[in-house]
Amino acid sequence: MAEKKQIVILGGSYSGVSTAHSVLKHVLPSLPDSSAYAVVLISASSQSMCRPACPRALISDDYFNQDKLFVSIPKQFEQYKSNFRFINGTVTELHHEQRTLSVSVADAVEQLSYYALVIATGASTFSPLFGFNRDEAFLRASWTAFRAALPAARSIVIAGGGPTGVETAGELGEHLNGRAGWFSSTLANPKVAVTLVSAGDNLLPNLRPALAQKAERYLAKVGVTVIKNARVKNVSPQGSTNQEGGTFSGPGVDDVAAKATLSLDNGSTMDADLYIPAFGTRPNTSFIKASSLLASDRRVNTNESTLRVDAAGPRVYAVGDVGSYAKPAIHQILAAIPVVTANIKRDLLADAGQTLAGEDRVFKEDTRETQMIPIGKSKGVGAAMGYKLPSFMVWLIKGRDYWLWTTGNLWSGKQWAKEG
Ligand SMILES: Cc1cc2nc3c(=O)[nH]c(=O)nc-3n(C[C@H](O)[C@H](O)[C@H](O)COP(=O)(O)OP(=O)(O)OC[C@H]3O[C@@H](n4cnc5c(N)ncnc54)[C@H](O)[C@@H]3O)c2cc1C
Repeated sequence: MAEKKQIVILGGSYSGVSTAHSVLKHVLPSLPDSSAYAVVLISASSQSMCRPACPRALISDDYFNQDKLFVSIPKQFEQYKSNFRFINGTVTELHHEQRTLSVSVADAVEQLSYYALVIATGASTFSPLFGFNRDEAFLRASWTAFRAALPAARSIVIAGGGPTGVETAGELGEHLNGRAGWFSSTLANPKVAVTLVSAGDNLLPNLRPALAQKAERYLAKVGVTVIKNARVKNVSPQGSTNQEGGTFSGPGVDDVAAKATLSLDNGSTMDADLYIPAFGTRPNTSFIKASSLLASDRRVNTNESTLRVDAAGPRVYAVGDVGSYAKPAIHQILAAIPVVTANIKRDLLADAGQTLAGEDRVFKEDTRETQMIPIGKSKGVGAAMGYKLPSFMVWLIKGRDYWLWTTGNLWSGKQWAKEG
């Protein structure tokens, strides 16, 4: 493989796996000598997972078919036979001037050169419960620790009034306390005190206030208390994980099951048997040392039209949550894949001496109100393309299985059968 021109893709989730399929299906066959190229997909996790399912999946394996929730990446690429290599490793340094990468694989560090590079390493959450902050073993271990502590918990505090916080509060509330009857607006005497702390004066800042207020009413039905206009300033003993985006030390597996005392910026303190930080994310870019490649929020400085990383030299792209070009969401990724594919194709053909007619393919972020938030197993709030959705539609589209119905085609590449 090393003597081939390597198109290296970093990250094995929505954006990396999709780009790899799309390049193998649509770029390689269009090149004059396709056997001279290889796609190399590098990911710290050897599996892909339906990340939006985490707020429900973290409670119990019984809620989802685990064979659909987690899928092996190499297995999804067996169909290509040649021109593809998967490396289960962590990229530790990008040397963009030399066009090489250092990759930690098992106990060794491998140096890899690239001809083209797609950065798709996404973002980590503050809590390890919500995705592959390291790999699948770390995620599983954090779920196991959390589940072991759950039966004894009498108070749970979740910080963050965005979708992850609201969904997690709704799932835990219904799982632990059940749901109030048809004629009651709140659940009386919930067994476990579930509290959601939100910095804003409304939950769900990406949705209109009326939907945020409806979400609050649904949360009350599953025994969740909402505290607004308050930020978690300090957490003991979880170090510096606060809601102000300050220094991050990151809770480990033990922290997800630990009691915590929280100081809020409204002057109050709270004790929690379990504490879940569910606010914000941090881009997985620690392997990029050159500040010229990073935006101020540490996402990769990406050309918002072409998805090229202009400062990194020719044939370098970023796609997905790691890029600065759009808000982090799966529908933005699905719209970006045909764009990045077309521009990779254009650049590789040009380098092979064939200039395509026309212009670069251009990405345009869809900024319409689009977000769906299940609240427990039967309710939800949301909007799509600017239109408010009834609770039943949110349940039907997302709440039943948190998008698991969509991931089969994504991981297998069927989604990208057409060039788009
Ligand atoms: C709890 C939760 C719920 C969500 N719900 C929704 C939803 O309902 N709808 C929606 O549109 N979006 C949702 N999102 C956002 C959505 O999950 C992301 O937009 C999506 O996962 C981004 O995909 P990605 O491929 O860019 O990166 P990620 O999913 O973050 O994956 C990054 C991949 O890169 C790998 N990686 C990271 N660093 C390295 C490295 N140095 N070397 C090698 N590999 C590395 C990781 O192991 C991982 O496989 C949710 C997010 C969370 C956390």
